[in-house]
Amino acid sequence: MRTSSTIELSFKAIEHNLRFLRKMLNNRVKISSVVKGNAYGHGVELYVPAAERCGIDHFSVFSVDEARMVASVKQPETTVMIMGWIPVDELSWVINNDIEFWIFETDRLEACLKIARSLNRKAFIHLELETGMNRTGLTRKEISEIIPILLENRDIVKLVGLCTHLAGAESIANYTRIHRQIKLFKNLIKLFHDNDLHPVLVHAASSAATIAYPAFRFDMVRVGILQFGYWPSKETFIHYISHRKDKIDPLKRIISWKTEIMALKYINQGEFISYGTAYFATEDKQIAIIPTGYAHGYSRSLSNSGRVLIHGHFADVIGMINMNMLIADVSSILDVKVGDEVVLIGNQLDMSISVASFSELSNQMNYELLARLPKGITRRLIQ
Ligand SMILES: *Cc1c(COP(=O)(O)O)cnc(C)c1O
Repeated sequence: MRTSSTIELSFKAIEHNLRFLRKMLNNRVKISSVVKGNAYGHGVELYVPAAERCGIDHFSVFSVDEARMVASVKQPETTVMIMGWIPVDELSWVINNDIEFWIFETDRLEACLKIARSLNRKAFIHLELETGMNRTGLTRKEISEIIPILLENRDIVKLVGLCTHLAGAESIANYTRIHRQIKLFKNLIKLFHDNDLHPVLVHAASSAATIAYPAFRFDMVRVGILQFGYWPSKETFIHYISHRKDKIDPLKRIISWKTEIMALKYINQGEFISYGTAYFATEDKQIAIIPTGYAHGYSRSLSNSGRVLIHGHFADVIGMINMNMLIADVSSILDVKVGDEVVLIGNQLDMSISVASFSELSNQMNYELLARLPKGITRRLIQ
């Protein structure tokens, strides 16, 4: 089936970014490739095997449905780790398939022990410690209750990791808070070692902390957005580049999102274009109707402000983004025809258009626009 737009992933760019990360981290720090949100919209089915070809053997997801998706395409020896949601009735699938998972509540540990016993199979767990993010995580009190349980049940649970999540390493405003978190994290880890519990992997850093706080990389980093070629924030990029001589962005964008012109039309000066009065033609225009809208993940907030590439030239998005269509002004582009390629994100001839370049909005736009790219769009891996 062909959909009205296509997403292409560049294998070369995947390889390039993962090689950059590997080099930066030496061989001491393990990489867990975070592929929640359908690999940030890139598509788990294509991305996971491609990343494996580049040496990745550990993937992190948010939920059990995402873990099932990764499990269905990964190599047998590759590890999957669930960082968040697992309903109790899915725990047996998780344990049966050696999926690693985070425990942030005593109740979940109890349920996990019960199921592991009944299956007579070991559960591989990471304990998430509350260090100040105040979302999920075990408090010091809960930890002291859990330690004896872990000791008693060593035959059936393996403490693979101790982890925490930092509350905004992409912004210097959180510097003190993050240092406090790490201090507490180290204190809590000591409680385990004092009780002869020695996890294999201590981990805390996502992309931003991997760059901005090298001392907090511990045994493993959980890298999401960086591997796809985007910086978690402008600040993180500036932090990286300020320590470099060459001042070159070391990352490459992986994704290209393409469609084609569906229809063309001439509009007279004085007309409004598309719904309502959002766009008024102050001169005669040629417009291209493009079969991509907010139902396909092209944000409505790009109404009257996005840009697309046609014949290697920028064309402004005019009027409101519709559910399935958008309109671009092609008045100044020669010889456009129905069926001509339109690049929504990516490169065309010498020009390139990125998610963040759409507007001056925060980099949050990268995460959000990518994650909203629907699963149903045709995806292809290219060299
Ligand atoms: C999403 C997520 C990450 C990865 O974040 P990036 O900023 O994309 O690198 C790491 N850890 C946890 C717990 C996450 O939820």
